Parts: sequence; C-alpha cells; structure tokens
Amino acid sequence: MQSNGSKTGHVPRTPIANRQPIKVDLFELVTRNLGLMQLAPVFPYLHDGAIVPCMTNTTGVKDLTPWHFFHDNDVKETLVCMAENGGAMKTGQIMILGDCHGVGPFLREPQDPASYYVALITVRMCNGPTQMEGIIMRCPKCSEVIYERHFNVKEGPERKYYPEFHALRYYAECWEEFNRDEKLRTCAKCGTTRPPEAESGNFGHLQYARNLAVANRGREAFEQMASRLTSGAGAPTHDASAARE
Ligand SMILES: [Zn+2]
Repeated sequence: MQSNGSKTGHVPRTPIANRQPIKVDLFELVTRNLGLMQLAPVFPYLHDGAIVPCMTNTTGVKDLTPWHFFHDNDVKETLVCMAENGGAMKTGQIMILGDCHGVGPFLREPQDPASYYVALITVRMCNGPTQMEGIIMRCPKCSEVIYERHFNVKEGPERKYYPEFHALRYYAECWEEFNRDEKLRTCAKCGTTRPPEAESGNFGHLQYARNLAVANRGREAFEQMASRLTSGAGAPTHDASAARE
C-alpha cells in the first residue's frame, strides 16, 4: 500500500496529483450558503476514503418554525462550533455525534434575528459501494417514529467536473415526501399528525443538487466552446433547441 510517507498511511505527506491542497476561508463560504441547514462540502473531494468537512450555518429568523429531526449515519460525524451567538454550543466546542442524533437550528432562541451559528460537520466517505444515512421523524406527542427513510449516499448522479455530495438530494426528497403525504406524518400509535416541515424549502438541499447539475453542464459547455475555438472551428452559434434543454 502506498503510504505517501505517512507512518500510518492515513494522512498523505505529499499532495496526490489530482487533489491539490485548497485553502478555504470558512466564513467567506458562509456568504455563499444556500439555506438554513445547508451542509456545504468545503473541498471538492468526495472520493472513497475522503474526509469531508462540511460548513453549516443557521440564523435566527423572526417567524421561524423550529424544526427537529433525527439523522442516522453509518459513520461517525464530528461537529466543531466555529462561531455563534445564542448557540446551543459555544465557540470552539467539539462534539462527536452519535450514530443517530438530533438535528435542529442549534440556537437557544431560533426566532431571535441576532442569533447565529456557524459549524463544521465532518464526515468520512467509506470505501466500497454502500454507505447508509437516514432521516427519522418522531411524533411530537408520544415520540414514536412516524417517518423513516434510509438511503445509500454512494448512489447518485456521476458528475464529470464537480462531484456531488449525494446525501443532500436524498434529504430534499425526504422533505418533499414527508410534506406531501399526511399519512406519512400521522403517528400510528396515538394518531397525532405532525405538520409539514415549514422550513424545509429553505434548507438549501434541493438548490445544492440543482446547482451541481448546472455547474457541470456549464463547465461542459464552456470546455466544448474552448475546444472549438482552439481547433479553429470558431465560436458556436446560438442554438435555440439547446437552450430549451
Ligand atoms: Zn404519537
């Protein structure tokens, strides 16, 4: 096994040819965040065995409906609170999340617009074709599990230029499914119906998946144009049918 000079083989001592070191300002990344619960991979490296730090941030919103669900993961996740005001954890605190853990705004007063929370959640991509995550919703009255879906985050569209963190499209599908069907939100034990997740549209998961598709399609189109120009074929003409794709 190639160790890249590391004693354990886990941490390469020299950059791998196609994965150059990248420096990212986490707080600058917050300015490009897409939603209340966006889990944005900090680096575009999502291959088997990759350590994947993801930025997430929430802000207090005056009429916010606080949400809560449980997240299940085959691999351990770590959470580092990078900065906060009114956060559930203090700046610099680190927590190893359980295999199944609660997720919410991480704010003590979610309707306080002065509250915010910036965190780094780090996951690992397993080797092999299967890595399961799950979304679990419980009854607000008796805590019985009323909705549960597990998915293989190794499965999803292959992207040519910018890899996709597939978990996010599965999260979006879960919210859509949960919100659409009242039967899926009704507790079999006590009959209580949980309301739709009002804020799920603001989580940013679906927009992330859409943007990934646009980024890859756009890059492909750009590369094709550059190829035409360098081969002397000239700039492409407008194609109305392509615009409707
Ligand atoms: Zn119940």
